[in-house]
Amino acid sequence: MNVKLYKDFLKEVFSQCERVRKVSLNAGFSCPNLDGTVGKGGCAYCDNKSFSSVAASEFSVMEQLEDGIRKNKKYGILAYFQSYTNTHAPVQKLREVFTPVIEHSRVVGISIGTRPDCLNPEVVSLLAYFNKIKPVIVEIGVQSANDKTLKNINRNHTSQQTRDAAERCKNAGLLITSHIIIGLPNEDMNDFVNTAKLIAECKFSAVKIHPLHIVKGTKFAEEYAQGKIGLLGFDDYCKAAAEVIRIVQPNVAIERVSAESPSYMLVAPDWCGQREKIWEGINANLICEN
Ligand code: SF4
Repeated sequence: MNVKLYKDFLKEVFSQCERVRKVSLNAGFSCPNLDGTVGKGGCAYCDNKSFSSVAASEFSVMEQLEDGIRKNKKYGILAYFQSYTNTHAPVQKLREVFTPVIEHSRVVGISIGTRPDCLNPEVVSLLAYFNKIKPVIVEIGVQSANDKTLKNINRNHTSQQTRDAAERCKNAGLLITSHIIIGLPNEDMNDFVNTAKLIAECKFSAVKIHPLHIVKGTKFAEEYAQGKIGLLGFDDYCKAAAEVIRIVQPNVAIERVSAESPSYMLVAPDWCGQREKIWEGINANLICEN
């Protein structure tokens, strides 16, 4: 099976550029699941201490952008608002942050990481306005289609909110991508399949698939140390990820299948950042299914 990858999606969207590179930006936004708006303490897997309010970086957004542009001279720049929840602020503030970035001559588009409960009609309408200038990609943290799981991991939003946010964004002409986790506590293959179906149903353009991994300083790190939660083994993860890919393809491009945590923060599993090894395992499963 030929898997459609994120780079293929980028080629479709930014056909005028030979290559596009994401440059991560930290605009110092907070998260409604940390500041008490919908919850406190954050998601059980979230390393919110290390991104404490913030690493808001000693550099301004434009300084971070210029630095990224210097390092990627030959690329079209996709400005990626990655840290925390990048639509969790008054619309006027969002306008001030996004305007100079999208107007920068080297920026071909912006990608905005956020939660489904932070995409109200006013915010979506602002993003739709920017989308008329350059493509805006909204990256929504979905994680699971199972509301019990979402509650257990303290996400403080529901799968219906994902459906609503995705529909609102699509109706406004925005591109949407997603993020899911395979291996959350008490989930099995049925749950992974349901989550994949939700991604397909909502017509996301891409998905980041992450294996559940334990990061130091999180609630999950405590529970893992106490033996209260376990992790999928490598083979089971590859099998599940292959099943997810089979369900969402060919319409949903695959952006990642490995984890992003730096090794000094990682507790387990030790293979979760090994992109090539994971792809080999997934491909072996995809071949078996053909
Ligand atoms: S994972 Fe995202 S939504 Fe959850 S607490 Fe951390 S920053 Fe907030």
